[in-house]
Amino acid sequence: MEADIVDLIGNTPLIKLKYPSEITGCNIYGKAEFLNPAGSVKDRAALGIILEAEKNKEIEKGGTLVEGTFGNTGIAFAMINNARGYKTIIVMPDNASNEKRDILRNMGADLKIVESLPYSDSGNYQHVSRKLALELNEKNGGNVIWGNQFDNIANYKFHESTTAQEILNQTEGKIDGFTCAIGTGGTLSGVSVGIKQKNKNIKVACSDPQGARMYNYFKHGKLEEKGDPSETEGIGQYRITKNVEPSLIDMSYHITDYEAFDLLYKLVKTDGLFLGTSCGVNIAGAIKMAKDMGPGKNIVTILCDDANKYYSKMFNKDFLQSKKLPIPEWI
Ligand code: PMP
Repeated sequence: MEADIVDLIGNTPLIKLKYPSEITGCNIYGKAEFLNPAGSVKDRAALGIILEAEKNKEIEKGGTLVEGTFGNTGIAFAMINNARGYKTIIVMPDNASNEKRDILRNMGADLKIVESLPYSDSGNYQHVSRKLALELNEKNGGNVIWGNQFDNIANYKFHESTTAQEILNQTEGKIDGFTCAIGTGGTLSGVSVGIKQKNKNIKVACSDPQGARMYNYFKHGKLEEKGDPSETEGIGQYRITKNVEPSLIDMSYHITDYEAFDLLYKLVKTDGLFLGTSCGVNIAGAIKMAKDMGPGKNIVTILCDDANKYYSKMFNKDFLQSKKLPIPEWI
């Protein structure tokens, strides 16, 4: 079979996380989503959205996709769209990392940076991207789509049919718990629905970064943030998106940036893992889940992307000091 880059999305390895397993007496595994061809778990969401739009004949060669994104989804779309002959227009808030901007520009995406504003403001990047897609679609007479990763359920459905099934196969069904953070909710919902269809006794936890509202929502039924805004990227949700709605959640954990960053630096040395910020939240959540469930359990989480896009935060002494975050001793 002739494969192209898009065919490399998914089927990522599941690896054992040595340090987290040792300190809990559980087997904690990470799904190595950073090995997807555009470098993150968002390759799956982007492909799910494109396949659905192609199936519905909403986009064809020469068409354009517009998306509002913190970066990874945009990078995934840029790759798939380049390979498929579609144009990519990305609207990104100005607090996403410079590294992500550079990648998008260098991949030839049309990048629009907007002020970082809350979802309730009409200038929020998600609303700007929707309006832009509608305007362009009207002007062009069709063939322009809005990715709408937060509320387009092709996102979680793709995780249900791929990520969840891969995890079940790779653990031979011997999985007791799964946890990850929420950006759009696609990964957590898709995996929770997919694995519970097979075995409803598998527990699922939401691991939420500080400053987001999902911890309190799943723990206490209240959409209320806890703590100061997080420096982690791509996660931390305020509202029940269409991709959060179907999630089947048993437990909820609040993870501080200090815990997340500290763990990320530890894992560089104990496991040789050089992971991005959201992985710190996911693995800290998996450790809490393991402690709650007791020794001997098999717990899976997601390794969303690697550290290369976050040098200006994770390996910048001044930044870390200003945010009172731990500093790795080797920088
Ligand atoms: N980690 C990173 C680095 C991300 O970019 C994202 C996506 N925004 C997530 C985690 C969250 O994934 P999801 O959108 O499926 O909830």
